[in-house]
Amino acid sequence: MTSLYVIHSTCAPNFGEGQLRERIFRIFSATATTSNPPLKDMLALNAVFRAANAHAVVLPLGEGFSWVWQDKKNMTDRLLWEIIRSAMLLLTSDDTKLVRQCAGDDCDWLFIDNSRSSNRRWREMKTCGNRHKAREFYRRKMGRRS
Ligand SMILES: [Zn+2]
Repeated sequence: MTSLYVIHSTCAPNFGEGQLRERIFRIFSATATTSNPPLKDMLALNAVFRAANAHAVVLPLGEGFSWVWQDKKNMTDRLLWEIIRSAMLLLTSDDTKLVRQCAGDDCDWLFIDNSRSSNRRWREMKTCGNRHKAREFYRRKMGRRS
C-alpha cells in the first residue's frame, strides 16, 4: 500500500505508517491548548528531523540561499522531509503561539489563527462555525420547550 506517510527505515527509524502525522498532531494539539507536548513525540520527531537533515544542503539560488534536498531518488521521502522541516520551522517560529484547535464539536482540525484579534475559534466559519451555531440554536430552542 502506498501512502504519503510511508516512511523508509533509512530516513525515519521507528515510525510506521501514519505515526508521523499523529505525532505532529499531538505536538501541535498540545501547543494549541498551551500544554506540554508529549516528550516521546518530541524525541521521535527530532530523531526524524535529524535523519531528514542528513539529506539537506544549503545552496545559492537566485538572489539568496535555499534549502535543497540532495537525494532526488525517493519523492515520498522528500515529501516527508519537507513536512518534518515545516513542522519544525513552525514550532520554532512566533506563529506557534497562533496554533488553534477547532472548537467544532466533532472536529479536531488545527489551524493558524492569523485574525487581527486572534480569537478565531473554527477552522472555517462556513462549515464548523455554522454547524456549531446550528447545534447551539437547536439546544437553546429545545431547552426552552422542556
Ligand atoms: Zn472544525
